[in-house]
Amino acid sequence: MVMGSIPENVDVAIIGGGVGGYIAAIRAAQLGKSVALIEKHKLGGHCLNYACIPSKTLIHISDIYDSIKESSKFGISVNGLAIDAKKMYEWRVFVSKKLEQGVAFLCKSNNIDVFSAEATFLSSNKLQLTDGIEIDFKKAIIATGSEPISLKGFEYSDKIIDYKKALLLDYIPKNMAIIGAGYVAVEIGIMYAKLGSNVSIIARSDILSRFDPEAVAYVKKRMESLNIKIYKKSNPLSFDANILKLDSNENILADILVVAVGLSPYTSGLGLSNTHIKLDDKGFIITDKTMLTSDENIYAIGDVAGEPMLAHKAMRQGVVAGEAASGISSSYENIVVPAVIFSDPEIAIAGRLDGDGIMTTKFPLSALGRAIALDSTNGFVKIAYTEDKIVKGVEIVSRDANAMISEAALAIEMGATLEDIADTIHPHPTFSESIMEAAESALGRGIHFFDSTKVKK
Ligand SMILES: Cc1cc2nc3c(=O)[nH]c(=O)nc-3n(C[C@H](O)[C@H](O)[C@H](O)COP(=O)(O)OP(=O)(O)OC[C@H]3O[C@@H](n4cnc5c(N)ncnc54)[C@H](O)[C@@H]3O)c2cc1C
Repeated sequence: MVMGSIPENVDVAIIGGGVGGYIAAIRAAQLGKSVALIEKHKLGGHCLNYACIPSKTLIHISDIYDSIKESSKFGISVNGLAIDAKKMYEWRVFVSKKLEQGVAFLCKSNNIDVFSAEATFLSSNKLQLTDGIEIDFKKAIIATGSEPISLKGFEYSDKIIDYKKALLLDYIPKNMAIIGAGYVAVEIGIMYAKLGSNVSIIARSDILSRFDPEAVAYVKKRMESLNIKIYKKSNPLSFDANILKLDSNENILADILVVAVGLSPYTSGLGLSNTHIKLDDKGFIITDKTMLTSDENIYAIGDVAGEPMLAHKAMRQGVVAGEAASGISSSYENIVVPAVIFSDPEIAIAGRLDGDGIMTTKFPLSALGRAIALDSTNGFVKIAYTEDKIVKGVEIVSRDANAMISEAALAIEMGATLEDIADTIHPHPTFSESIMEAAESALGRGIHFFDSTKVKK
């Protein structure tokens, strides 16, 4: 389907209508360029249709269900509590559809021509679309994202599924096994365990092995309380008749097996050999700080342009590439890309927690009024800083860490000091006070937490 007139020549052509691509398109259109956005599947890409939004929608539902079950201490008891998985599925599909329509509306409002087709480069100035249209462009932006890595011997079927299908089930599996131990596996595992599945996670080393063990320990404890079995240092051998065999001689019962072993950049079918684009050894498109590839006419952004593969990084790069392709001086030089794991408790990180000359101080949520009131004291805020008190990193292990981490990202981007955070009034009673408390503690003037190592004699 083509919305608007069919341009044979455009200023900027964007391949991929995910969060990186549609934002680049809107930015270039705002700058007065004629823009074509080519999407072969659904506007909003993986983030809105299969990944970030669906997973957080379902995690929210599982949290409601789980917290009702655990609310007797607040005087709430519910008889006949049940989950209707079909309704849950319908809500999840509705949310994606609404957002997809929102993106279509924004494109239309910005006079962006949207093509529902797959695009292939014929040259550094021309695209061939599968619907037969050819587009001549001055500049192009590749935003084709990533795809789930498959596992040899575990080919996808109705029983062996990837993260997309795992977030599109209209029933709650009785027994679910997940191969993989990164944030996707942990988020999906906790979600289904809260909904009532028996979940097993198979980890080559351990879960979230690239994250701070002190933070991960809180998540592991919660996973244990949800009866999630983590098979560490294990590799899957085979899956047959609902039995997953591991090399540790264990057999796991699973009605459904989710393979969540990572994502790889998606460049298949793009015809990159007809351009001057170069890839690195992991298959990511190489770019400079303006997101320009080795081809002077073509930019690349988002998952296809390197780690970290996160939606908000794709969005920021979308703005930069939209501007750069429109002739404005713009570059991607952000110091921090915050990351959030929507586990229980959530883990959110901005900046770095270690390195030469970096010190850290921690504030426990057990000393925070809001956390005690909500019975959510599992966690802490860790703040990392230099000798001259410049904030370099913040880690938050807490309920709603997702909502708090942006303050840390802004502080680090602006070169804020511990005093900047400690002396900023944070509303009470909120979880965000814990960031202020961590900064106060680091300065040796913590109020609500007594740290004997920081007391001046
Ligand atoms: C389960 C899961 C949960 C996640 N949760 C989060 C989260 O909470 N927060 C976060 O920041 N990130 C999250 N991510 C990562 C996030 O989904 C990606 O970083 C983000 O979608 C990348 O955006 P993108 O625009 O680069 O690509 P995508 O969103 O993948 O969009 C690429 C688009 O390009 C289209 N396309 C590809 N090739 C062509 C072609 N030749 N012609 C036309 N169209 C083409 C595809 O159909 C697709 O729509 C999650 C990932 C997973 C797997």
